[in-house]
Amino acid sequence: MPANIIDGKAVAREMEEQMRAEVESLVSSGTRPGLAVVLVGDDPASKVYVGMKQKACERLGIKSIEYKLPADTSEEDVLSIVCDLNGRKDVHGILVQLPLPKHINSKKVLLMINPAKDVDGFHPLNIGNLFVDESPLPPCTPAGVMELIHRTGIDLSGKHAVVLGRSNIVGKPVSIMLLKEDATVTICHSRTVDLADICRTADVLVAAVGRPEMVKGDWIKPGAVVIDVGVNRLEDGKLVGDVEFDAAAERAAAITPVPGGVGPMTIAMLMKNTITAAKRGTGFEDIIENICAQA
Ligand code: NDP
Repeated sequence: MPANIIDGKAVAREMEEQMRAEVESLVSSGTRPGLAVVLVGDDPASKVYVGMKQKACERLGIKSIEYKLPADTSEEDVLSIVCDLNGRKDVHGILVQLPLPKHINSKKVLLMINPAKDVDGFHPLNIGNLFVDESPLPPCTPAGVMELIHRTGIDLSGKHAVVLGRSNIVGKPVSIMLLKEDATVTICHSRTVDLADICRTADVLVAAVGRPEMVKGDWIKPGAVVIDVGVNRLEDGKLVGDVEFDAAAERAAAITPVPGGVGPMTIAMLMKNTITAAKRGTGFEDIIENICAQA
């Protein structure tokens, strides 16, 4: 039987309905959530992502503050903007769009963001919280992946979850989230031997490698849940995921499409984190002021 197609767009829309009400209630109690996005350079994909984030803010009534900086902006200037944003009361979330130009040290910039405003969930403190307990601001794509898995109704306890990719923004955090829900997790990467065989044992397969249609249909265990994080543009302009969709859909119980699967969920989770940050208020002011003063 062909798989159930997990409609990430519809789930994101449903979440937006709830979030719009939350924003209205925050506004009526005197706080409009604010998200500042810093974009350095002209990377076309980054521009598209930033545009999508701004539109989502508009739909929800979140204040959007944009910094569109030329590619030759100095690291010092980016750090100084982040420090200003850390201190602004109307900014609850700060997002520095990655990748940054090569002359800017991304690690240094991300470390400078107040963890209470780190709506991307990439600050080591938030990642650390995720590992030992819960992060109030989980990284957006992994959180979106988990929401889609939950929507399938699968009980993860004791299931074999295979994650393809070990990046800090997708593979590693999603593995920890799956582990916390008692899945037995295998993390695969470019040096993994017998990848296809490992995938064939996956009850849940999360593909985040960035290789167009690398995961073949016959790698899918019949009845598996397949979440395709990959976004790859082919030469003809078509967008495809990391999974051979049609063939995989013949075997899976549920599968996400690309586009329209994980992508919209990443944006929805960013909005959710911005609202959470606005509700929680800031913290770490003293520490952050010190770090910024030393920069
Ligand atoms: P990275 O390039 O940071 O990581 C890719 C991972 O895949 C690495 O761990 C790498 O292994 C592994 N890998 C690469 N080639 C192979 C291979 N042949 N076999 C097994 N493993 C392999 O990518 P990201 O995690 O940032 O993103 C992954 C994909 O997800 C991309 O297509 C990206 O565009 C997409 N993405 C989509 C988002 C969305 O909202 N939909 C958000 C974020 C990302 P190694 O570590 O050994 O190099």
